[in-house]
Amino acid sequence: MDLLLRNAFIYTGDADHSCVPRGSMLIKEGLVRWFGPDAERPALGDAREVDLGGQVVMPGLVNTHAHGGLSLHRGRGDDGDLFQWSRTIAPYTSTLTLEDNYRGCQVAVMEMVRNGITTVCDCTRYGADLFSMVASGIGMRSLSGALASSPELRPAGRHNWPQALEETDRAILERGDDPLCRFYLGAHSPYSCTAERVQEIHRAARERGLPFIIHVAENRQEVEMVRERHGCRPIEWLHRLGVLDAHTLLAHGVWLEANEIEILAATGAAVSHNPTSNAKLASGVAPVPALRGMGVPVGLGTDSMLSNNGQDLFQEMRMSVLLQRAHTLDGHALSARDALAMATREGARSIGWQQEIGSLEVGKEADLVVLDLWHPLGLSAERVLSDLVYRAGPQHVRTVMVHGEAIYDEGHFTRVDEAEIRHTIERHCETHLPP
Ligand SMILES: [Zn+2]
Repeated sequence: MDLLLRNAFIYTGDADHSCVPRGSMLIKEGLVRWFGPDAERPALGDAREVDLGGQVVMPGLVNTHAHGGLSLHRGRGDDGDLFQWSRTIAPYTSTLTLEDNYRGCQVAVMEMVRNGITTVCDCTRYGADLFSMVASGIGMRSLSGALASSPELRPAGRHNWPQALEETDRAILERGDDPLCRFYLGAHSPYSCTAERVQEIHRAARERGLPFIIHVAENRQEVEMVRERHGCRPIEWLHRLGVLDAHTLLAHGVWLEANEIEILAATGAAVSHNPTSNAKLASGVAPVPALRGMGVPVGLGTDSMLSNNGQDLFQEMRMSVLLQRAHTLDGHALSARDALAMATREGARSIGWQQEIGSLEVGKEADLVVLDLWHPLGLSAERVLSDLVYRAGPQHVRTVMVHGEAIYDEGHFTRVDEAEIRHTIERHCETHLPP
């Protein structure tokens, strides 16, 4: 049924960060068909009308990097840098069964939706389609896949290529018609993959018209490992291999020199910035202003519950600004507008979904979040944008919609029973996982 949201403060998330203070939005067949001042709203027809009582409507948040399957182990490995951490968590991550992965994805998806996330790019090692099954069932969009590696460089765990390719091909065949699901092919990282493996995965992605994803330049030690092995820095190496282009998404990108940022800008590759994870794993602060200044698309990511530990893009927006300012001692290094762009429109662009999602504009998907952001001085564009970045959290989220359907409303998931899912997860953990 068509839907008319009225009496809302609409933050469109368009390129100008336009707002409509007392606005209405008409949603037809899951798409935004009209929005503007309440007083100018079109004839209702048979649309259902909802009075939002002055609440804020914003575009659904786009999480450009996550590992939902690891969520059962939240809180293990809270200390240490990237390589120390990966050794600490290896006993859990390398023995993960498909059911552990599936249950972890349920934990992650429910938390993301509760936090206003409507689209996520998820990475796994085994079970390339599990995340998308869970996300689609709950009503969230996903770009899912597995990051493959080379067994000689990443010996722990089972080796996952060409299994990842077979799983992805099967998922596309079985579920490619589901508009909520998209898939990619990925390589784990320059330190865990040979040149041949990276190129093989990239070639397979291009043949299928899929995005290519890799973790890169996350940690300083990684840069040294790549330099010793290949005589150049990670971005230079990927560029030599010919795998950087407008369909490539690089997770982290913390340790980047000016010439590497130029390479990214020239090739069109995008970066997923994960400020909390980068800080928690003592990786560093990514050069986000330089990347964006050169026109590199930058989205925000939560990373996994083992390195974050929440799945909250409001927190990532806040962290992206605060860390940058603390690191550069420049109070203008990033603004609330920059953070909002990365969490919505630029995030959508970095995962190749910008035609359909990332902002509330006529013709685009009605993926949106309704928040209760009461302010003693009343709502204005400046106050709402400020609150969304420096204050907002899941406690303010009232409703989450994807394709015009409320998938989360007033604390409840509309398609699934959260209590029942939690109970199943607990029973699984009791019988299958160490305490
Ligand atoms: Zn990752």
